[in-house]
Amino acid sequence: VRTQVSPILSEDGRARGAVIVCHDITELRRLEKLRTEFVANVSHELRTPLTSIKGFAETLLDGAAEEPALRERFLKIIQAESLRLQRLVEDLLTLSHIENRGVRRADGISNVQRAYEKIQPVIERYAEAKGISLNVAIPPDLPALSIGEDLLSQLMLNLLENAVKYTSGGSVWLKASTGVGEVRLEFGDTGCGIPEKSLPRIFERFFRVDKARSREQGGTGLGLSIVKHIVDGSGGKVTVQSELGKGTVFTCSLPMAL
Ligand code: ADP
Repeated sequence: VRTQVSPILSEDGRARGAVIVCHDITELRRLEKLRTEFVANVSHELRTPLTSIKGFAETLLDGAAEEPALRERFLKIIQAESLRLQRLVEDLLTLSHIENRGVRRADGISNVQRAYEKIQPVIERYAEAKGISLNVAIPPDLPALSIGEDLLSQLMLNLLENAVKYTSGGSVWLKASTGVGEVRLEFGDTGCGIPEKSLPRIFERFFRVDKARSREQGGTGLGLSIVKHIVDGSGGKVTVQSELGKGTVFTCSLPMAL
């Protein structure tokens, strides 16, 4: 608690009383700690690919470039690490944009089918490359949602990309249905699942169950925190059910447009 005391003086300068203001700064401290942790995490996430890019570029300049097989391998690593940096910077920008501006219910109206069509080619290609069957069921009479369409596309992209990312050779689905005053979007997969003890933490920035696996698949650790921001800001709810080794279902309930 931070305390400020100001005396109240009478006209002849004698103290007549005091005003004492107490600020509870627990929340401030917590936010400050979160911010410091975030900056440390970002720096670490940026430094890892940068170190690798720098190292391989130096090795190439030192002579490795003369050997075609090595040159090819090192250039591929440099390319992959640059892509990782790019994804990280893009996710950070999205997160910062959403946090600064906030997501508001009045931000727009979106049609689920149209929002899905924007990301459809990316998801279909990704699922096909991993031999995963993709099933999308969006009823034609589904009501519109009170959420910006780009934000809805981003939410669907993050959840479907994760579903494919953490599944090998099974199936991934998106099922939309109408509830009371809301639309439910279910994103399911038959993938690796999430251990129960990690479930409460998965929406935190940079939290990953398996760091190596996430990195190897191109994950930044920011996808679900972006999803949570979008859903909360638009007045909806996101829940997750998962069974290790069996699969995971994320359910977003989003308010219908008025
Ligand atoms: P990442 O970029 O690592 O995928 P996210 O914020 O999108 O970061 O997800 C956080 C973590 O939650 C992931 O690293 C992964 O461990 C877990 N996760 C997310 N979605 C799934 C899923 N569909 N199946 C299994 N694990 C998942």
